[in-house]
Amino acid sequence: MQEKMQVYLDNNATCMVSPGVKDAMMPFFGELYGNPSSMHNFGGQVAKHLVIAREKVAAMFNVDPDEIVFTSCGSESNNHAIRGVLESNKEKKHIVTTKVEHPAVLNVYRFLAKNKGYKITELGVNKQGDLNLDELKTVLSPDTALLSVMAANNETGNIFPIKEIAEIAKEKNVVFHTDAVQAAGKIPLDLKKIPVDLLSLSGHKLHTPKGIGALYIRRGTAITPFIIGGHQENGRRGGTENVPYIIGLGKACEEAVAHMNEEAGHVSKLRDKLEAGLRSVITHTYINGNPLSRLPNTTNIGFEFIEGEAILLHLSKAGIAASSGSACTSGSLEPSHVLMAMGVPFTYAHGSVRFSLSRFTTEAEIDYTIKIVPDVIKNLRELSPFYEE
Ligand SMILES: *Cc1c(COP(=O)(O)O)cnc(C)c1O
Repeated sequence: MQEKMQVYLDNNATCMVSPGVKDAMMPFFGELYGNPSSMHNFGGQVAKHLVIAREKVAAMFNVDPDEIVFTSCGSESNNHAIRGVLESNKEKKHIVTTKVEHPAVLNVYRFLAKNKGYKITELGVNKQGDLNLDELKTVLSPDTALLSVMAANNETGNIFPIKEIAEIAKEKNVVFHTDAVQAAGKIPLDLKKIPVDLLSLSGHKLHTPKGIGALYIRRGTAITPFIIGGHQENGRRGGTENVPYIIGLGKACEEAVAHMNEEAGHVSKLRDKLEAGLRSVITHTYINGNPLSRLPNTTNIGFEFIEGEAILLHLSKAGIAASSGSACTSGSLEPSHVLMAMGVPFTYAHGSVRFSLSRFTTEAEIDYTIKIVPDVIKNLRELSPFYEE
């Protein structure tokens, strides 16, 4: 009998808090409780740490600290970027994004199209989940106010060529926002070389607790605040700063930079071992995404003839946490919008599972997963009316 392990392979949904991040945060739940805006020493001490945290986040992107605005999450950063840019430029009425964005971008765009009179273009992707940049060039027009394209996809791990996209947007004089929640800390993003105007970041995909994010706003970008209030964040985001979490995000960025190369090697080696280990014994599998251009920690595998949800339940019973490509939270059995946009055949899309690793994933955990998954698939396929050996 295989001894049961607890294996967390759902790091694109959220990550464990790193011990270093937790340690860095703790004093700010205790003695360091001052308001950083206060004139006295209690505030001044905290303000100093806030400055350092902002420098650490900025350093990850090679930008200036005053171009970083702290927010409550990746979703807020996306909402701030999109709605703030449009609010500051009401003349232009066309907005462009992709069909494979996270709901925190896609649903904002669709809300604006439905309720605020914007004309929306949603760029499609090919079978591998890649965009057609020639198509992008033809849809951007003088009336285009904003373009949002994610830096990497949360479901497939596909990396988008945001440098080229940013250059196209610049040439067409269109403000460019990228949701880099999945890419940040996993691949290098030097914004001195990539001319994006706005970039969204979330802490809990980077080993902080949930509830902290940041928005990079290139100096000179016209944007209104999303939360209007006091002078915090240079007047760009009102509200007394979430000090412990901001400190945690600074530490998480510092750790991500320090570990980036080694982590990419570690997780891609384990990810490739997992893929190969499963595909060598399980027939009728398909890798969703572009294996030549994806995040090192992510694989999304379609197992034909069975339901992703059933796979996840059985994996969970065996102690393995993964995630399904299909979002049937609404009760509908629609496969994920990302896989549908890619035209993944239904029989695969329904049986797709995302495994996402982190630098804390061990080889023993991957070996255990390689042992468990084939039996789960085999048992489910035996029950499937569609499957014949
Ligand atoms: C998780 C995620 C978000 C949302 O971030 P929150 O901090 O959970 O609001 C946005 N975009 C992508 C690509 C994500 O993976």
